[in-house]
Amino acid sequence: NYRCRSAFKLLEIDDRYGLLRPGLTVLDCGAAPGAWSQVAVQRINSAGMDPDSPIGFLIGVDLLHIPPLDGAHFLSNSDLTDPATQTHVRALLPAAGVDVVLSDMAPNASGFRELDHERGILICLSMVDFAEKILRPGGSLVWAWWRSRLGQVLLSGWSGVRVLLGVPCDGLASCPVCVPSPSSLVPCVAGL
Ligand code: SAM
Repeated sequence: NYRCRSAFKLLEIDDRYGLLRPGLTVLDCGAAPGAWSQVAVQRINSAGMDPDSPIGFLIGVDLLHIPPLDGAHFLSNSDLTDPATQTHVRALLPAAGVDVVLSDMAPNASGFRELDHERGILICLSMVDFAEKILRPGGSLVWAWWRSRLGQVLLSGWSGVRVLLGVPCDGLASCPVCVPSPSSLVPCVAGL
């Protein structure tokens, strides 16, 4: 049983792109209540359920409390945009870096559109910065909450990293993410 329905979103992404494999290292940003982590723990084998496969490693971080989960190392009550949290996370990660950064982080809605938009952008920019420092070359960033053109432009400059964005996309040439670029971007995922 999954802790919430969002698990199916990640299952669908991973069935399509095959990002999560036994033995990989994953950072789950905005992990509470832990449904994405449940999926990732199963797929990277970080709880060692499959004795014949390599064992992965997962760190999950959230502002809220994240109930414990076998195979996951959770940092609750932690703000991932705070440099102190980022330092803590980096100290826990292997030197080689992370294979997959998952981000389902979203600001709590205040009801004020502009304020929520601004908060969302700040989270995104901070995460772009952080992910770039910790992802190993060829790693993947899965972003389920992204609506900003600015962000798309920033990410399209990356190379060697696969970026999956949760931007509704019809796969047309007008999509700024799908436009072929020198980087190895894969097409964004339609309507996550
Ligand atoms: N992926 C989760 C799951 O499947 O259980 C659901 C995540 S929920 C949509 C978004 C989460 O982002 C919230 O729990 C919120 O507390 C967290 N969040 C928002 N801003 C954050 C920040 N600056 N640092 C850490 N977590 C944050």
